[in-house]
Amino acid sequence: MFSNKVVLITGASSGIGAETAKEFSKLGANIVITGRNKDKLNNVVKQCEELSPNKLKPLLIIADMNKEDDVENIIKTTIDQFNKIDVLVNNAGILESGTIETTSLEQYDRVMGTNVRSPYHLTMLAAPHLVKSRGNIVNVSSVTGMRSFPNVLAYCMSKAALDQFTRCVALELAPKGVRVNAVNPGVISTGLHKKGGMDDEQYEAFLKKCADTHALGRPGESKEVSSVIVFLASEGASNITGATLPVDGGRHAMCPR
Ligand code: NDP
Repeated sequence: MFSNKVVLITGASSGIGAETAKEFSKLGANIVITGRNKDKLNNVVKQCEELSPNKLKPLLIIADMNKEDDVENIIKTTIDQFNKIDVLVNNAGILESGTIETTSLEQYDRVMGTNVRSPYHLTMLAAPHLVKSRGNIVNVSSVTGMRSFPNVLAYCMSKAALDQFTRCVALELAPKGVRVNAVNPGVISTGLHKKGGMDDEQYEAFLKKCADTHALGRPGESKEVSSVIVFLASEGASNITGATLPVDGGRHAMCPR
């Protein structure tokens, strides 16, 4: 389905990004994966190679999305190797907890830098290549972009910005044949929240609470998000652009009563 296509995925060393890399590999794509953790990325390279029908080995680029030179190097290295980009998956992201009373400006900058500025920068540099290939973009947003939750203020703001980025860039690039969409996952059991400060006990309780906070009564899994990313990037979604698609077990439709 994706043979001869070049798919660039940020934050592919774990969770949703790693699963997405595997899914595209299964479908025959040439994959470019980025992140900071070399060991984890090497592990994903191995798994993708095994899953690829033609045993294609992903191109691995170590990059901190908050360093402009690293972001430029992602596009340069990809074009040097493949001479094109068909699909860009802006997945790398971080979560930090905090309210208006407890979130420092450093935290705000870190979250907005990683979740908004860096995909803006990468997309800006990828755009001419996507226009050439009439390719498409899938942004990994969150239900927190569509609905409001206390104590994850900067994160909610960052994902709301990413949703608006998705719609605006979709309109800007539509005349050039480039589609731009987003997935908005609910809680997915990747461990992201632990990196954001929850300890094991709090994380376990948080996942248990998904029985009430998600209509389907459970957290989601990475592969339930990666399958939707692949769909949005595929010809099956040729008439979809500017969509922010909840992949959240119905959480976006809920309202406490
Ligand atoms: P993970 O923590 O498993 O994955 C995050 C990825 O982003 C890692 O591969 C990490 O790579 C990368 N990353 C983070 N910061 C940077 C940086 N500065 N430079 C380069 N890479 C970076 O979590 P998920 O898979 O859950 O998260 C993926 C996306 O899904 C995020 O955008 C997140 O906001 C979104 N999401 C997740 C939800 C969930 O419940 N899990 C719900 C809704 C949305 P490395 O550490 O190697 O740098």
